[in-house]
Amino acid sequence: MVQEARCVNCGFNIEKDYILFINGTEFTFDSFECAVNFVAPRCANCNSIIMGRGIQQSGDMFCCSTCSKEGIHSAVVP
Ligand SMILES: [Zn+2]
Ligand SMILES: [Zn+2]
Repeated sequence: MVQEARCVNCGFNIEKDYILFINGTEFTFDSFECAVNFVAPRCANCNSIIMGRGIQQSGDMFCCSTCSKEGIHSAVVP
């Protein structure tokens, strides 16, 4: 059974795929990096990928306490 799969993050064809289930929906990625890029939240201040718990403040996610303080004043919803 050969199934053509594409990475939902970058659109590349996949040979070795990483499959992630999020709320029962299957997402396929070609690399762990793409999976992280697609799934991980980003800091509302500096746009870094948040791999850990992060800091949640007034509905936004921040990577560190410094960003959470700066982001409160400068947070702009794109
Ligand atoms: Zn990819
Ligand atoms: Zn940050």
